[in-house]
Amino acid sequence: MFFRNNQGSHGSLGSIEVICGSMFSGKTEELLRRVKRAQIGRQRVQVFKPEIDTRYSADHVQSHDANRVASRPVAKAKDILDFVEDTTRVVGIDEAQFFDDAIVDVAQKLAFRGIRVIVAGLDMDFLGRPFGSMPTLLAVAEEVTKLSAICMVCGAPASRSQRIASPVEAKGKTNDEQILVGAKEFYEARCRFCHDPKSDNANATS
Ligand SMILES: [Zn+2]
Repeated sequence: MFFRNNQGSHGSLGSIEVICGSMFSGKTEELLRRVKRAQIGRQRVQVFKPEIDTRYSADHVQSHDANRVASRPVAKAKDILDFVEDTTRVVGIDEAQFFDDAIVDVAQKLAFRGIRVIVAGLDMDFLGRPFGSMPTLLAVAEEVTKLSAICMVCGAPASRSQRIASPVEAKGKTNDEQILVGAKEFYEARCRFCHDPKSDNANATS
């Protein structure tokens, strides 16, 4: 059961926007741009990210450009529903690929409540496979923005994230083969043709 808004009019319709793409494609920057624009319009905004994304400070979504917006790390997708306040108009969700499957239901519930949900995340992992719940989020979204980076080998538009260090080398990081929360030194943006999932020795088990 979803909580539909009872406004009669759909003038302030809730919806889901997804911003996806490879690493270095500017997903978080685009999320922050939309969030800041809403804040300037005096709309109450809340931003969430998975607790696993601990690259930077604990209470900020921070892009590689050091833009900062206050955000709340949450352990489970469903926790977001507990924290969203009645007056909130816009909910941002960063690094959505790391959330559990319930993130889809959470985004749908918020949208049916009349909230504008802006989701940013990697659409593919470093092997080029659809990542987590992102494929489903892309399917149910009203609007999808797929950003590209620049291939660090050939300069073409890049859609893939190339891992250039194995988890063993990435000391202090998780050993999970899909989730290597990335300081950018472990990855490069690559195009379809320059992306080589076998070129680092980290994927022997897949
Ligand atoms: Zn290339």
